[in-house]
Amino acid sequence: MISHDVIIVGAGLTRMRAALEAKKEGVDVSIVTKTYPIRAHSVEAQGGIAASLARVEENSWEDHMFDTVKGADYLADQDVAEILARKAPEAILELENVGTLFSRKEDGKLNQRAFGGHSNKRAVMASDKTGHAIEHTLFEQVMKSEVNIYDEWHVTRLIAEDGVCKGIMAYDMRNGEIKVMKGKSTIFCTGGYGKVYGVTSNDLQNNGDGIALAFRAGMPLEDMEFVQFHPTGLYPRGTLITEGARGEGGHLINDDGERFAKKYAPEMMELAPRDILARAIQTEIQEGRGIDGKDHVHLDLTHIEEEKIKERLPLIRELTMDSAGVDPIEEPIPVRPTAHYSMGGIHVNTNCSTPLDGFFAAGECSCVSVHGANRLGTNSLLECVVFGRRVGREAANYASDNSMPSLSSNEYLEKERDKILHLMEGEGKEKVEELRKELQETMRDNVYIFRSREGLKEALDKIIKIRERFKEVTISDESKVFNTAYTNALELENLIDVAWNITRNALEREESRGSHYRTDYEERDDENWLKHSLSYLQNGEISLEYEDVTITKYEPKKREY
Ligand SMILES: Cc1cc2nc3c(=O)[nH]c(=O)nc-3n(C[C@H](O)[C@H](O)[C@H](O)COP(=O)(O)OP(=O)(O)OC[C@H]3O[C@@H](n4cnc5c(N)ncnc54)[C@H](O)[C@@H]3O)c2cc1C
Repeated sequence: MISHDVIIVGAGLTRMRAALEAKKEGVDVSIVTKTYPIRAHSVEAQGGIAASLARVEENSWEDHMFDTVKGADYLADQDVAEILARKAPEAILELENVGTLFSRKEDGKLNQRAFGGHSNKRAVMASDKTGHAIEHTLFEQVMKSEVNIYDEWHVTRLIAEDGVCKGIMAYDMRNGEIKVMKGKSTIFCTGGYGKVYGVTSNDLQNNGDGIALAFRAGMPLEDMEFVQFHPTGLYPRGTLITEGARGEGGHLINDDGERFAKKYAPEMMELAPRDILARAIQTEIQEGRGIDGKDHVHLDLTHIEEEKIKERLPLIRELTMDSAGVDPIEEPIPVRPTAHYSMGGIHVNTNCSTPLDGFFAAGECSCVSVHGANRLGTNSLLECVVFGRRVGREAANYASDNSMPSLSSNEYLEKERDKILHLMEGEGKEKVEELRKELQETMRDNVYIFRSREGLKEALDKIIKIRERFKEVTISDESKVFNTAYTNALELENLIDVAWNITRNALEREESRGSHYRTDYEERDDENWLKHSLSYLQNGEISLEYEDVTITKYEPKKREY
């Protein structure tokens, strides 16, 4: 059986940073990923990474922390928001030192642009390809650091026995073999779950795998009801148009030609946080002010100088020209909200440890509770590097202090083979594509930007039935080489569990906070709901508990922009 001191699942930014840090501690590190390393969703990050470097205007880590807490609608743990904001400048300099080519001003200093919900210009960027620049630089470092890489391995199980994590199981996509990998420490950096919705900015690989595997291994998930809808996805499919476009001065316009953001956020307008602007756009559409009565409004950049668009937003221009035939220098871009980011995830403490010994999580799949009910743009890449470093060190120390667990793999291998046989040779009539479509439609109809008890109840019933029907899924492809029909089925199973958690938590939370908006409870209710939701799998049902929010500096106030 293969064994490594530290197993890291995922190939995004969090994983890269974690691997480098763990390696520095002198332990043996492996990375397991279902895509080739530089194909993780992190590569697609566009607009920037936040830090109070004050290269363009006055800035302090305290302001950054406060903006993060207010942006989160006061559900972020403030000790964690402090770590994020304090560590940000150092994290950026570290990335620079290993060669990340960030955009600069004429005086040679780093450039920083405005971003939603941030009161100062603090987004450090590599034009609109920031994730690409960072991920490639860190990958170069990983390549020279003798980390073992197992790519195109789809992880199918987290192995937990007697309160200890012992490793993982994976399906080798190249030859259909099932593998067991034993480890002293296992870290999940498996990203988000955008594909729970049909219209999303996320990559095809973002199916909440790690979140669902942890849930099925008995781990608590935190704050799953909080799903971020980014205001500006390209109509109709939802591909991301970075907030950087509004940071550079873009306007949102409805069918009456009105800059409607002023009705919803009189001060910050188009630079209000995402939850507020996503609701604003959706309201304009629902009330009939979408462009030509369609489900979109306009993002207008035509008043911005051509040179600035070419220099700061080249990817966006290429994307809108290729996908929609729209040159933003000449015409406005059609946009609608798009499912973008998972604030919730695997419950971890500030050191990224879970309640299961030897199991850690970081990045978008985790909930260290820094984004609360609504994440600010550019804080996610920052979380990946700050907490990636932390989790790498923690997991390496744990591995140094503990011996390799004993593990007998036969039972697990048998279960996995039975599952494959059931999917390939079973008699069931359900099909992956149809169930996925039904799930996504249910989420769009009832667990979207505006929610109500009635809709959530209806969705919950449907999801529970879809979960049952999944047992009757069969696939028609029995090949062993790159059997995507099989991996799609595994991903659907994970999407269903993620959707189940989002909906169940959303039904319980009878208030409106950040991205979770209930039309039947339109106000934030700090007295009853200033708390984190923790959902567990117990005897085949979801059981819910609640935990206090850590408040260190800023008492909750009404949130206005
Ligand atoms: C289009 C877009 C633009 C964005 N722009 C910005 C931005 O400008 N600034 C910002 O701060 N944030 C941005 N974000 C958010 C940010 O990019 C992500 O939250 C962050 O990159 C997530 O990194 P991660 O390391 O947690 O996961 P990811 O980069 O998503 O990586 C997850 C990895 O886990 C692997 N994996 C998943 N499941 C399995 C499995 N079962 N077996 C094996 N491997 C598995 C995947 O293959 C992948 O390699 C953007 C997001 C999107 C979608």
